[in-house]
This record gives sequence, structure tokens and C-alpha cells, in this order.
Amino acid sequence: MSPHFATALPGPRAWLRARPQLQGSLVAPAGARHRLPHRRGGLHVVLYHDVAGRYERNLLAHLDALLDRGRFLSWPEALIALAGPAPLEVPTFSVTFDDGHKEWAQSVLQLLQERNLPATFFVTTDKVVTGDSQTQLTWADCAALVAAGMRIGSHSVTHRRLIELSDAEARSEVVASKDELEQRLGICVEDFSIPYGLPGSDFGERELGLIADAGYLSSVTALPGRNLAGQSRYQVRRCGLNPAWPLTAVKQRVHE
Ligand SMILES: [Zn+2]
Repeated sequence: MSPHFATALPGPRAWLRARPQLQGSLVAPAGARHRLPHRRGGLHVVLYHDVAGRYERNLLAHLDALLDRGRFLSWPEALIALAGPAPLEVPTFSVTFDDGHKEWAQSVLQLLQERNLPATFFVTTDKVVTGDSQTQLTWADCAALVAAGMRIGSHSVTHRRLIELSDAEARSEVVASKDELEQRLGICVEDFSIPYGLPGSDFGERELGLIADAGYLSSVTALPGRNLAGQSRYQVRRCGLNPAWPLTAVKQRVHE
């Protein structure tokens, strides 16, 4: 594991993310004014990280509520929908997970399979361990996700904020993570999740150029909102959720 992880998640966003029930209770009141998507078209991409055991069934409750409102697309289907030319006439959804968590292989995969849902897992390669581990995501876990038909993307090597790195360092984060995933898993890695994911503070034109030059076909952000046909595939919006949240908090992020 990289020494960068000790300092990679500073700031209020990370503090609140580590207290998901508090975060959910803060987000929920604004959600009460909203309805889940039901009529307006668009692609809503949801983003989770870890899924603690006590929140597994709550994650399913989130996904069931969205399933009630529209279809879930695999990532290739989502990119075709975004490419247009037909407008997205109904709400559609796609689910993604970021960073690299043991629960992905221990429980999340099984939950997704219960509902026959495709998902994309964006892996920070330095977080993955070689050999066995009961607590950390291993390369065998990643291979199991691939074998189950899940999509794997890159989430950089060390999860540093790309915009703060030199050209050579930023390029290495984007390229070396892709290379390692491809070599270890025997797959093509075509999708990148930008660490922290907000335009201006976390990425800009240079980073988007590096991602495209490395051969990625899409990149996802942490900018909330729905995606429409015809927009850029390199700045896909995602709604960050936590499995600990009540449904009213989900509606604050994913709504009509
Ligand atoms: Zn991340």
C-alpha cells in the first residue's frame, strides 16, 4: 500500500464521509422536497465506496427504489446512450463503486447478482494487495468481479489529486494504473474515475487530455446531476451516495 493513503483524504468531505449516518441525516431534509426520477429522461450514475455489513440491505433498498423508476445500464450501454443521437427519454441508471474495498467481493457482488444488476468498479491500484487478505481488496477479488461480468475501471495509482502533480506524475497515475489492471486481470481498461472528481479543484483540461491520450474512452467525475445524450463522455456526472443513508437523502442527490 502506498504511503500516500495516510494523507490522501483530508478535508471536510472526507470527515463527513467517515460519518455516513450523520451525513445522511444532514442531507435528508433537502431530499424530502424531491421525488426520485420518474418522467424526465437522462442517465443518473450513482457512486458508492465501501459497503459496511450493517448497510448491505439498505444498499439494496436504494437500488430497488431506483429500479422501480427505470432500467439500469451496463457501462457500455450507458456510453452508447450518452453518445446519442436519440435523446434519453426515460430515467436510466448506472451504478459505480470507487477506490477498492474488500466488501465489493465479499457482499456487494452477491447483492448485485440478486438483482441481476451490472456495475462498474473503479480501482485505485495501490490499494489492491497481492496474496490473501480478509480485510483488503486483492487481485483475486478483482478477478472474481471480472469473472462475474462486472466492469473494472481505473481510479489512478495512488489517489492523489491529479491537478497538483507534475505532468509526468499525473500521466503516470493515469497510464500505470491502466497498465497494471490490464496486465493483472487480462482485460481492456477503458474508463477512468478522476480522484476527488470535481472540475477546477481536482481536474482541468490537462487531466482530461491525459486521460484521452492514455486511451480511455470515458471518465467519470463527482459532479452531481443527470447526464444527457450528446454530452462529453469524459466528464460524466455522478451522484455520490452512501449505503447508510435513508431514501430521503438519496432523493436529495438523485431526483426528477
Ligand atoms: Zn476515490
